Order: sequence, then C-alpha cells, then structure tokens
Amino acid sequence: MIMSYEVSFRVLKTLASTVGVDLVGVTTADEFSDVIPKLDRYYEEGRATGFEHPNSRLRVDPAAILPQAKSIIAIAVPYITPATKALRRPKGLRGSVSLYAYGRDYHRVLTRQLESIADGLARYVGRDIAYHIGVDTAPLVDRAVAERALIGWIGKNGMLITQKYGSWVFLGSLITDLAIEPQDVAIDFDSCGTCTLCITACPTGALVDPYILDGKRCISYLSQSSGIIPNEYRKAIGRRLWGCDVCQNVCPKNNQSLLSQDPAFAPDEELSYPELVHILKLSRRAFLREFGHTAAAWRGFYVWRRNAILALGNLRAKGALPELLPFLSDPRKEIRATTAWALCQIAPDEVRTVVATAFGSEADESVRKEMQWACEEGVQ
Ligand code: SF4
Ligand code: SF4
Repeated sequence: MIMSYEVSFRVLKTLASTVGVDLVGVTTADEFSDVIPKLDRYYEEGRATGFEHPNSRLRVDPAAILPQAKSIIAIAVPYITPATKALRRPKGLRGSVSLYAYGRDYHRVLTRQLESIADGLARYVGRDIAYHIGVDTAPLVDRAVAERALIGWIGKNGMLITQKYGSWVFLGSLITDLAIEPQDVAIDFDSCGTCTLCITACPTGALVDPYILDGKRCISYLSQSSGIIPNEYRKAIGRRLWGCDVCQNVCPKNNQSLLSQDPAFAPDEELSYPELVHILKLSRRAFLREFGHTAAAWRGFYVWRRNAILALGNLRAKGALPELLPFLSDPRKEIRATTAWALCQIAPDEVRTVVATAFGSEADESVRKEMQWACEEGVQ
C-alpha cells in the first residue's frame, strides 16, 4: 500500500531541531499489541508500583487517547550536561539525588518543546491539528513508543538506550492526527549482548531477570513511595534521597554518551547533594521554595523528610542525633518509625531508653513493631 504523508520526516526533524530536540522519531498510531502480554505479566506478578496509569487500555492504544490519531512523534532529550559530569559530592552529611532531577523539571521543558513542534506542524500544513502530549505522566508506555519510533532500544535494565546519549534521556511523545513519514534507520535491537552488569549491580535485586523489573523493589520507586519503607531495602538505599542511577551508571552503553548543552538541566550543588540536616529543618513551604522547580518535588515534602532521616541512619550520623530525636513524636507514622530505625543505626546504646519511652506511648501498631524491633533486634 502506498501511504501518502502530510509531513515528511525531514520537515519534522527541522522543526524539532529549531526547538532544541535532535532525537526525534515517528511511528504509526497502531496499538502496541506486543506490549500487552508484558504489561499483563507485570500486573499479574504484582510488580506494579501503583504509579502506573490505572487504565491499561490507554497504555497501549493511542486511539483510545486521541481517536483521530495517525502518527506518534517520539522525542528523547539528553540531560547530562558538562556541569553535571564535573559535579562532585561535597563533604559532609549529604544525600544524593538521581541525575535526572538535577535541573529544572523536565516535564515542563519537554512539554514546551512538544507544544512548539505541534505549533510548527500546524503552521506547516496550514490547518489546526489534533494532538495529545505525553511526558512521563501520559498513559502510553513511553519506552515502547520511543523504541518503535526508532529512537533507541530497550536494554536489560528496562531503560531506553540511544546511540548518541545512552540512556541519559527524557522521553516525550506527541500523538497527532497528521500522517507523518517515519524515519528510515537501522537499529540493533539486541545491543546488550551477553552483558548483565545492570542486573548484578542493582542494590535491591529489582532487576529480577533481563528486561524484567520488579517495580516495588526499585529504589527509584521506594524513594518516592509514601509510608514506611520495608526494612529489607533500607540499607541498600544508602544516602539516596530521590531515585537511583546504579543500573545506568554501570551500563557500558553510557560510557561514550554525548552531553546536553541545555542550561535548564545544569545542576545546582545544593539541590543535587542536599545537606541532610538542612532537609530536616525545612518547613513544607521552604521545601517547595527550594525544590519546587525540580522533578523531585512532586511527591511532596514528607517523603524527603523520611528519606533524609533514613539516609542519616545509614550514614551513622551521630552529630545529627539532636535534630533526629524530636521526630520520634512526629505526627506522621512513617517519620516516627524511620526515626526509631535511624537512631538505632547510629547510636543504639544511647537511644535505647528514649526509643523505649516512645514505644510506651506509641498507639500505631506498625510503628510499635518498628520501635520494638529497633530497640531489641535491629542493631547490627
Ligand atoms: Fe535497581 Fe536502582 Fe536500577 Fe531500580 S534504578 S532497577 S534499584 S539499579
Ligand atoms: Fe544492557 Fe549491559 Fe547496559 Fe544492562 S548494563 S542495559 S545488560 S548493556
């Protein structure tokens, strides 16, 4: 069948580059039927985190999102800048934040770029176009879209890997009613070969098999989840306040990746390696003032406070004991429980009495268990 296109790939590529996007691809709006069995398994085996879009139909069927859909434009935008590479963790009680959250919130940056591409396309064809933009929060499975649009291939760590920038890219998509010519490139879809570095390096064993992620064990999810983090993962989380980069750091496909020149993603040292005691002292409002423009703020302040307490425990930060102790009576149960755990990691003999006293007045059963464990057995 001869397909006629309203927009050539060359025109799209030019439009994308005028808004700073050099990795762009196109695929049809056909259903992602090959993803359905993988998603079914993901949900059936209980590996879903709850952060995924609840409507699985929308995750694989572009027409369920935009009934007039003909094409999907996929973009990948690199986020490691020269300044990111040069940044080193300052001395002291510092947490760490995943590299993707170093700069300005990518949702806003990519959404603006995709809107500009849509505007440019409408001008080019001389009519209004129907479109739907997705950056992370979209229902469609973004990595599958990017792979079918020939932007890259999915590695055993589940990340979309591009030839130019490795896996250090943000993904965005634009479903449109325009028929756009796809690009014609050859991609090696099995470039992992015999490598399994990401699987063996994962601190929590979340990569249970090649290409199979147990989302609930992934630190990226755990650091964003609310509630009490299960004990089995606490030590593996280390000083991480937000996200985890291990399976990307070890990936040889990232060794030669080119860098982003977009100042929007340049890091701020204080936000990339936040001072942990400072996080404890922040009010909710002050947190939003400092971190609200980054991609690490969307779960709110309390996960950060909990994660900072956990990190101080892992760092055995004795100097932070005075700041930690008041959180034993915090209104939030995950804060009280994590504080009991952290205190007993830091100075078990010194805090045993104070944790036992808190245990005596604790009404929540899940926190009581944590406090009891922390006092009696949790010290290693
Ligand atoms: Fe494992 Fe970290 Fe990768 Fe999650 S982000 S799969 S915890 S290495
Ligand atoms: Fe593939 Fe190795 Fe990279 Fe994992 S670390 S994604 S196995 S190349």
